[in-house]
Amino acid sequence: MLRLPHALFSLGLVATSLVAQSPLPQVAKAGKTAKTAKAIDPADLDLAVKPCDDFYQYANGGWLKRSTIPADKARFGSFEELADRNRDTLHAILEETSQRSDWKKGSLEQKVGDFFASGMDQAAIEKLGAAPLSPWLARIEAMKSTRDLASVLAAFHGAHAGGGGFGFGVAQDAKNSTQYLAQLSQGGLGLPDRDYYTKTDAKSKDLREKYVAHVAKMMVLAGEDSMDARAHADAVMIVETRLAKASMSRVDQRDPQKTYHKMLVSELEQMAPQFAWRLYFKGLGLKQVGDVNVRQPAFIMEFGSMAEDITLPEWRAYLRWHAVSSAAPHLSRAFVDEAFDFNSRILNGIPQQQDRWKRVQAVLDTPSALGEAAGQLYVKQAFSPEAKQKMVVLIENLRAALKEKIVALPWMGADTKQQALKKLAAFGVKVGYPDKWKDASKIEVVRGDFYGNIMRARAFETRHNLEKLGQPIDRTEWGMTPSTVNAYYSPTMNEIVFPAGILQPPFFDAKADDAVNYGGIGAVIGHEMTHGFDDSGSQFDAEGNLKNWWTEADKKAYESRTDLVVKEFDAFKALPDQNVNGKLTLGENIADLGGLKIAFAAWQKSLGGRSPDPIDGFTGPQRFFLNFAVIWRNVIRPEAQRVRLNTDPHSPGRFRTIGPLSNLPEFYQAFGCADGDAMKRAEDVRPSIW
Ligand SMILES: [Zn+2]
Repeated sequence: MLRLPHALFSLGLVATSLVAQSPLPQVAKAGKTAKTAKAIDPADLDLAVKPCDDFYQYANGGWLKRSTIPADKARFGSFEELADRNRDTLHAILEETSQRSDWKKGSLEQKVGDFFASGMDQAAIEKLGAAPLSPWLARIEAMKSTRDLASVLAAFHGAHAGGGGFGFGVAQDAKNSTQYLAQLSQGGLGLPDRDYYTKTDAKSKDLREKYVAHVAKMMVLAGEDSMDARAHADAVMIVETRLAKASMSRVDQRDPQKTYHKMLVSELEQMAPQFAWRLYFKGLGLKQVGDVNVRQPAFIMEFGSMAEDITLPEWRAYLRWHAVSSAAPHLSRAFVDEAFDFNSRILNGIPQQQDRWKRVQAVLDTPSALGEAAGQLYVKQAFSPEAKQKMVVLIENLRAALKEKIVALPWMGADTKQQALKKLAAFGVKVGYPDKWKDASKIEVVRGDFYGNIMRARAFETRHNLEKLGQPIDRTEWGMTPSTVNAYYSPTMNEIVFPAGILQPPFFDAKADDAVNYGGIGAVIGHEMTHGFDDSGSQFDAEGNLKNWWTEADKKAYESRTDLVVKEFDAFKALPDQNVNGKLTLGENIADLGGLKIAFAAWQKSLGGRSPDPIDGFTGPQRFFLNFAVIWRNVIRPEAQRVRLNTDPHSPGRFRTIGPLSNLPEFYQAFGCADGDAMKRAEDVRPSIW
């Protein structure tokens, strides 16, 4: 229920992907199509541009010119291209598995195959229409007063069936990472961020009008007449606007101290007495909740007030909307089309809906027990132990390079350095897929019952999460499925994690020269390691506790450096009328810069003084930086870019390339950039951190 921290890359709001790639590639062989057989393809470059003027354009101009965004996508680049191949691999497995109906009942193959088959059974889904919603809508209708809000929200949250209001789940206690803690967080909005409700510019107003119209259309589909639906949509807007106004900004949420407010349930009751918290916890089946972390107290206080002074009819309208919108993607075509129309077309500019199999596969391929069941079938076919071994070597080389960097830091004192080195040495590493898979045996999967399968799987996941309270920390869990093209750092686990899906070109290519691999997956590894030392991650210690290990002077020196990163990215214009938000993207930008630097140092170290021969006219260092630019290239729809500028902690690919490179003397040297060149930042404004 809580969002995964510090991923390498944010996947879209709509699940992405496309393209065919045949017979289940081994990692080393996967990737390059005939057209791009070379690790660095000269046709991808634009040699008319000088590398020191605009390296993103120089390295990717050819590719950018010939690339178009597929009609069912918001964005297309190296991540999406590889994700498409992985998805096709998994698709072939799902097709084959679902075509057989003689699997042993309860086997992985039966569950995965029947789930996929049920999702593809459009006729059965059409026949049901809005029927799966009936019990939920009846539950809302039966509310006698707003005092029933607690039991109704518990029912919805427990079943993961919508509900809204706020978020609740169990996660590690940030200040006591050996224990789980109940976590209460803001939530309950239908638009991507709180600011969408309050901004007064014409675009924002227009979007709100379209949102209200969308809510009304969905209410009609769920059985209301159009007059009622319109009035109810207005009520939804009233409720959500109040929640939005009380919400913490995304920038503030990046500070782990600001979202840590552990208290007794009795204190929560005093804070927001209008809502029956104990009844809510009881409704979720939780007998003893001692403490709870209220991540955004101001929000919960406002929610408490609203529990009392929003009228019962308004609450009913709001709850109905969240029930309908949560179920819509899994219902009949009319619901699916309307959800697509607002969330994908209007909000993200995507003209065409994904094929059904892609959408069904996206529902399955999530970090859950069923997702890992599919993941087990995937890695049997698409994972190479050779790649894992090479990764482990790379990771240790990067760790050694970062260690040297920390020891040599001019701005950090000895005491803080000692703590930093302790933290670095304690990093846990996961590569490929889980050693221990999540157990899906208790989830019943029935052919022909898509909605039922989804709800049983969700109820299982919620229960599994809530049952962690009071249990020892499960350190075997993964937050991504094996086929995912991404990676993450968890500050409370103090671990870096790399799914099998990303260990392929252009990130990692067993056939390519080391320069290319260090510029690709090396920079990715360095990125995740640096998250342990970014503005947020650096507040956690070696044991994953939110506990200061910095001297005051060192913290000041660090912040004077990160301030330069904020300024640098604030100045990047991503749309004619919108710049990158330097504070929102700070952690990722620190990680990109540090990761690049550490990867380059590790590569240099691995050469042991040798100088690799040029390939296609490019020196080793040039090939390193060229592949770094390749991994971040993409084309994106302006609407989707805008949503990301407002919500995504990652900068656009163009700035993830030119930002870090223009701060790096090793890059200037590789391409002969001189003072005054755009890609060489003046020393007094050039951040150098790790
Ligand atoms: Zn990251």
